[in-house]
Amino acid sequence: MKTEKSAKFFDRAMKVLVEGCSSASRGPLNYSPHPSYFKKGQGARLWDVDDNEFIDWQLSFGCLPLGHAHPKIVEVIREQVENGTHFATALEIEVEVAEMMVAMLGHVDKVRFANTGTEACMTAVRMARGITGKRKVLKFEGHYHGWYDGLLVSSNPQPVTTLGHPNDPVRIPDSSGLTPGSWEDTLVSVWNDIDALERILKIRGHEIACVMMEGAMSNMGVIPAKDGYLKQVQELCRKYDVLFYLDETVTGFRVAPGGAAELYGLQPDIVTYGKALGQGFPVAAIAGPDHIMESIEYGKVLHYGSHNAPRLGLYAVKAMLEEMTKDDNAGFRKITEIGEQMTTRLNAAARDAGQNMRVQNIGSMFHPVFTDLEEITGYRDFCASVDLGKYAAFAAGMREEGVFFTGNKILHNLSCTAHTQEDIDVSIAAATKVLHEMPK
Ligand code: PMP
Repeated sequence: MKTEKSAKFFDRAMKVLVEGCSSASRGPLNYSPHPSYFKKGQGARLWDVDDNEFIDWQLSFGCLPLGHAHPKIVEVIREQVENGTHFATALEIEVEVAEMMVAMLGHVDKVRFANTGTEACMTAVRMARGITGKRKVLKFEGHYHGWYDGLLVSSNPQPVTTLGHPNDPVRIPDSSGLTPGSWEDTLVSVWNDIDALERILKIRGHEIACVMMEGAMSNMGVIPAKDGYLKQVQELCRKYDVLFYLDETVTGFRVAPGGAAELYGLQPDIVTYGKALGQGFPVAAIAGPDHIMESIEYGKVLHYGSHNAPRLGLYAVKAMLEEMTKDDNAGFRKITEIGEQMTTRLNAAARDAGQNMRVQNIGSMFHPVFTDLEEITGYRDFCASVDLGKYAAFAAGMREEGVFFTGNKILHNLSCTAHTQEDIDVSIAAATKVLHEMPK
């Protein structure tokens, strides 16, 4: 892999950009000794400034169900940019897209558009507090809901010895600069453990506005919910009169047309979407039934934003939804089949090479972790057993072979409709080579 030009960009970048880029997960922490600088994406391919070509399995952290520069997206954006970029007025396109989303999701009456998952999550929590008049929110260890102060607690992997008793996890702030007050009202529990949830709801349910969780733990590799767990969570929320808030920033418009709510048969009170929804544009949404969504009417619970409902982004959403749902949701089936195939074949390659790599997935989301456990069922398994350094070495080896696996050790990789059978075969051949060459 040629790196001369990227190295030069890195030197320039380090003079004017913190870490040489705009997010820690893109910088030297995950791409040592320096990141590659990219200039072009097409289909499932990316090109860097040294003209290296990669099969992209990172796909903007899940923002590109159709891959890069899909012809329909390019066409509609070219056409619409001529009519103006952003108006900050009510828009014809936002009505159309909201109608499409409500019809597709089935369990929501109304939608409110924002830009990023972080904003949507922040607003959802504010709504839950406003509606119930209760102060606390309950999140789970290892679940990430963006970088809003109030939710930046216990999202990162930590040494297990620091986590405390599962009945009362130690809350660990994820950043400097947070006041204890910002997360004082954020309680933390252990995910995928229904007894732990009932214990805390029994004692503190009267103080808790909402239980919030991802549809799958997807910021700690990919850890699916145990059979029936999400349904049981919903039942417990109803029993203890606490709102059930499902953060579908990752799973929405990905694991099924109706997201994790459809996959697991749920009726959450509040849902948030982002990532895949925008097909590469910053479009996020908060959604729910009428009696919940009316809380933001006329600023009762405040939700503002100059860039809300980004016009061009909404045209991309419309085109993406049309493409993904064509032929009875063939797009969703395709990304799921590719994710399943990658998972099965990577696991087989790891076994053949005698490596302790395990790949877990939910449809199109998959992630290799190096662990001696047969299965990772929770955050504490992940913290106790996963060798993040080995994943970093594997992903770096893959990139040397022209296959872009995310350098972010705790995130996941994804498929898009543009991946071909050849992309899969080439990626598996690369994995086989890298796994055989890696020390055991
Ligand atoms: N919720 C979840 C479940 C996420 O995975 C993320 C991003 N990784 C967010 C919220 C925040 O989204 P954004 O990066 O768009 O602010």
